[in-house]
Amino acid sequence: MTETQKKEIDTVKDLRSMTIGELKSELKEAGFPAFRADQLYRWLHVQIVRSYDEMTNLPRNLIQYLEEHYILSGARMADRQISALDGTQKFLFAMRDNCLVESVLMKYHYGNTICISSQVGCRMGCSFCASTLDGLERNLLPGEMLEQIYEIRRQTGEKISHIVVMGTGEPLDNYDNLVRFLHLVSDENGMNLSQRSITVSTCGLAERIMDLAGEQLSITLAISLHAVTDEKRRQIMPVANRYSIEELMRACTGYFDKTGRRITFEYSLIHGVNDLKEDAVGLTALAKHVHAHVNLIPVNPVAERGYERPTDAHVQAFKMELEKSGINVSIRRALGRDIDGACGQLRHRQLSCC
Ligand code: SAH
Repeated sequence: MTETQKKEIDTVKDLRSMTIGELKSELKEAGFPAFRADQLYRWLHVQIVRSYDEMTNLPRNLIQYLEEHYILSGARMADRQISALDGTQKFLFAMRDNCLVESVLMKYHYGNTICISSQVGCRMGCSFCASTLDGLERNLLPGEMLEQIYEIRRQTGEKISHIVVMGTGEPLDNYDNLVRFLHLVSDENGMNLSQRSITVSTCGLAERIMDLAGEQLSITLAISLHAVTDEKRRQIMPVANRYSIEELMRACTGYFDKTGRRITFEYSLIHGVNDLKEDAVGLTALAKHVHAHVNLIPVNPVAERGYERPTDAHVQAFKMELEKSGINVSIRRALGRDIDGACGQLRHRQLSCC
């Protein structure tokens, strides 16, 4: 664990963000036997209880000690929308300090996927995205990322097979907490989710991509590319002023070489902006260069942004242009079109009316 990771936990002391090893050593130091840490960890990550009241096999003096020395992160449901079209459910959660975050439950043929947020708001400023409209409020703790999943499980009783970190926030801008979350959610003593079923999406913080390559995780990394020249990318993604496409591609190649995991390029198609023939040609070259899959996302129009989605026929034509050069392409199915579908829309609407 890095020094920053230690510091974050030292200052906040969120029980749900601690590993079983940390719980053991801290409880031991406080004079409690190690098996109490096992029991506690089970309550937190297997029984997924909300409060100490439910931890029925822990002695009173231990609960008192925990209450005095730690916080217990939790997500409270503030709003829930269910799509009549496809059963997609969108949740608005309030954290301990009443910060609001969004999460989505989506049903696919291969299982249930939850999309979680990694930050409260976002500071990356992508021009088509609603999550960034109100700026960054704070980072989410690992336990708060977990709680979005746990509360959806409590509310719906559904089994979860996949997690995508594609909600509000830039996960690599909250790096230490993200990595800790990835270890916790895949811990065999906890939720035990396969790392291969987890996708982390980033707008492309190149140094952090290289760091992540060294964490020995078998997650899938998705890069929000959205444009294939620096000039065009800078128009829609401010992060492109910090990292050129060349630097980003170097990080992607490094990631693939080190982990053996294929990268996905996310490409939101915006009518008249990045959906031209020359864009398809450039995208083909980059995808070939780093052996990436391409995931096309017809842009979800956000009222404040004024971008338009291309026609379905145009999206198909763009896809075929890539496929004819042997690129593996999928089109993201728009789920929950009848609810606040685009990233950050539900939270933004809630904030706007408060
Ligand atoms: N910050 C991360 C993850 C959050 S966004 C990232 O940038 O990847 C998840 C994906 O949705 C990103 O590819 C993002 O660019 C895309 N996205 C955001 N708003 C969108 C919109 N209105 N329409 C289509 N895709 C959008």
